[in-house]
Amino acid sequence: MPGGMELKNEVLASSTCALCGACLDWCPYIANIEDHLVLRFDCNVPDGRCYAVCPRTFADWQAISKKYLPDAPENIEIGPYFKAYKVKAPIGIEGQQDGGTVSHLVKTLMEDQLAETVLLTGSDDHITPEPFLSSEISEIKKAAGSRFLASPGMRKLIEAQARNVKKFAVVGRPCQIQALRKLDYNRKPDTPAMDVISIGLFCMWSLGWDFKNYLQREFPGEEILSIAIPQHGFEVTTDKGIHEVPFEEVKKFIRKGCDYCLDMTSELADISVGAFEAEKGWNTVLIRSKKGQELFDKSVSRGFLIFEEYPEAELERLKGASIGKKMRGLSAAQEAFDRGVKPFVDLNSEMYTNVKKLAEGKVE
Ligand SMILES: Cc1cc2nc3c(=O)[nH]c(=O)nc-3n(C[C@H](O)[C@H](O)[C@H](O)COP(=O)(O)OP(=O)(O)OC[C@H]3O[C@@H](n4cnc5c(N)ncnc54)[C@H](O)[C@@H]3O)c2cc1C
Repeated sequence: MPGGMELKNEVLASSTCALCGACLDWCPYIANIEDHLVLRFDCNVPDGRCYAVCPRTFADWQAISKKYLPDAPENIEIGPYFKAYKVKAPIGIEGQQDGGTVSHLVKTLMEDQLAETVLLTGSDDHITPEPFLSSEISEIKKAAGSRFLASPGMRKLIEAQARNVKKFAVVGRPCQIQALRKLDYNRKPDTPAMDVISIGLFCMWSLGWDFKNYLQREFPGEEILSIAIPQHGFEVTTDKGIHEVPFEEVKKFIRKGCDYCLDMTSELADISVGAFEAEKGWNTVLIRSKKGQELFDKSVSRGFLIFEEYPEAELERLKGASIGKKMRGLSAAQEAFDRGVKPFVDLNSEMYTNVKKLAEGKVE
C-alpha cells in the first residue's frame, strides 16, 4: 500500500480531497490550515495509513459494501437498505437541523450503552465546524444543527483509538463513513477491530471555508445563528434576521473535492439520515444494517422518535436526486482520470455500469 507522497500526488495535488479528516493526526507530515491539507515534509513511509483510509484513493467499494452491509437488499440509486421512514423527535432539541432524529439516535446510543463514545461536530460560532468526542448526553445539544463547511472530523479517530474506545459511534458525511469503513477494511491483521456504529448524513456537497468570509462581507457585524437549506433556497439566520443567499452565490464555494463524490445518502452507514424535503421538521431515515435497525427500534421504543411510512413519490424524488449526483460525480471522475489523476473507483465496475444504465431512463 502506498503512503504520504502518493496521497499528496493523487489526492491533495489533484484537488479531489473531500476533507473528511481521516488522514490527519496519525503523523507529523500531514497538516491542515483551515480547509487546506498540506504534506509538510516528504514522506517515504510505505503502507501509509493516510493512504489506506482516504475515500479518494482506490477501493473496491462494492466489496466494502458487501462486507459491512451484507443483509440489506441492494439498491443502485441509494445503496443497500431495508426500509425508508419519515421520522422526527416528538420532543425536539434546541438548534436541531430538521426533525432532531440524529440527536435522538445519539441519545439512544448513549443511554442504551450501544456506544461509549460518539464523534459529533459542533461549532462555537454556528458556522466553523468543531469535531469532538463525547460520552455525555448533556453535550449532544452542542452538536445539534448542520455545519455546511466541510469538517475534517475523522481526525478524531486517532483520539478514540488512543482512549482505547471499544464501542465507538460516528455521525458523519458520506466521505467520512467511507473513510471509517476503509479504516477497518484495510486494517492490518495485528490491529484490533473497533466495534463501530455509524450514523451517516445525506450530503449533496459541503462548502469551502471561504464561505465564512463571504458571509462576513455580505452581513458585516451580524452574528450567524444557523444555516438551513429549505426547498426554496439557502437561508442564513443572523441576530438581525433571516437572509436568503442566492444558490448561484453559494455554489461558488462548493469544495472541488465534492465534485467527485458518488454518494449522496451515506450508502455505507448503518443508518442514514437526511432532510424530509416534502415537509419541514421531519427526516428521511434509511435503515441499512441490523445494527442500524436495532438503534432505530430502541429509539422508537424509548419514545425519542416517531415515524410514518415513507411516501412513494418522495422515495422516487430521493432516488432521482441521488442518481443525478452519481452521474455528475462519474463524469467529473472520468474527466479527472483522463487528465492523469489515478482512478479511485473502477468506472467500469458492474456497480457504476448499472448506475449509468439506470440514469439513461431517469435523469433529465
Ligand atoms: C455538509 C452537509 C451537507 C448536507 N446536505 C444535505 C442534503 O443535500 N440533503 C439532505 O437531505 N440532508 C443534508 N444534510 C443533512 C441535514 O443537514 C441534517 O444533518 C440531517 O437531516 C439530520 O437532521 P437532524 O435534525 O436529525 O440533525 P440534528 O439532530 O440537528 O443533528 C445534526 C448532527 O449533524 C452532525 N454534523 C453537523 N455538521 C456536521 C459536519 N459538517 N460534518 C459532520 N457532521 C456534522 C452533528 O454532529 C449532529 O450530530 C447535510 C449535512 C451536512 C453537514
